[in-house]
Amino acid sequence: MSGRYAFFKGRIVPIEEAVISVRTHAFNYGTGVFEGIRAYWNEEEQQLFIFRPREHYERLLASARMLLMSFPYTPDDLTRITVELLQKEGYREDVYIRPIAYKADEVIGVRLHNLKEELTIWTTPFGHYIEREAAHVMVSSWRRINDNAIPARSKITGAYVNSALAKSEAMLNGFDEAIVLTEDGHVAEGSAENLFIIRNGVLITPPVTDEILEGITRRTLIELAHNELGIPTVERHIDRTELYYADEMFLCGTGVQLVPVVSVDRRPVGNGEIGPITRRLHDLYFDVVRGKVPKYRGWCVPVYVP
Ligand code: PMP
Repeated sequence: MSGRYAFFKGRIVPIEEAVISVRTHAFNYGTGVFEGIRAYWNEEEQQLFIFRPREHYERLLASARMLLMSFPYTPDDLTRITVELLQKEGYREDVYIRPIAYKADEVIGVRLHNLKEELTIWTTPFGHYIEREAAHVMVSSWRRINDNAIPARSKITGAYVNSALAKSEAMLNGFDEAIVLTEDGHVAEGSAENLFIIRNGVLITPPVTDEILEGITRRTLIELAHNELGIPTVERHIDRTELYYADEMFLCGTGVQLVPVVSVDRRPVGNGEIGPITRRLHDLYFDVVRGKVPKYRGWCVPVYVP
């Protein structure tokens, strides 16, 4: 069941009214940018918390600038609108929030300039993105889009065809998720997640210059691993074959949250079970996002549900 309302053309309207024409530029050419944000229900406090919405809206506005869009909203404005939307919905469960900024003109012509933009936000209750507790993944035959083709650090709707090609290839071959390599053969990320491996007690993740989305979960986990577990993260190129040598591995992102990877290309990661560092980070992450760790409460924006 999806939400009953959306923020559309500057106000909150019933979801049935939030519709666009088949002629919309973004529908025809993929000229939109989007975000995925989660809000978590905290059962003990009977309270919904949005996780790091300002960071997501900063990234949305940066992606929008990339496509020559500008909006009168600040990240704080968009956070307030999201709180209002969630309040109106009255959710008492975990929720996914989907803001999209898009080229709204109904015209023929591939371009980014001289077009007007709109911004919409819709929400839906949401559980797991990958159903399993731990994932079996394959290295995709599709390469990650290059920064000089479609920048991976911008979250552009059209660019997700690259992700969809990789994801479907993996799933139709019996895997849960795809790992995509850069054009020069380094590990970039999952189809819609960042990736970490653990070797000799150290977290390793590709640098932001390796065609990845600059993930907010990635940043969160680097900080939590450092502060709470005393585990450093090295941001460097990862060779494909290092995936087969890793002691532990996991995917992370707003949608997937933190999912351990237990095999790559049918080779077990470590002993083929969820590793101890991955498990500790996983448990810590879920406590933090639900607002259960006072030190990180600042990342969680409360929604007062009547
Ligand atoms: N990479 C890609 C391609 C993604 O779509 C996502 C999901 N937004 C991520 C990484 C993870 O980013 P975040 O942690 O900010 O959700």
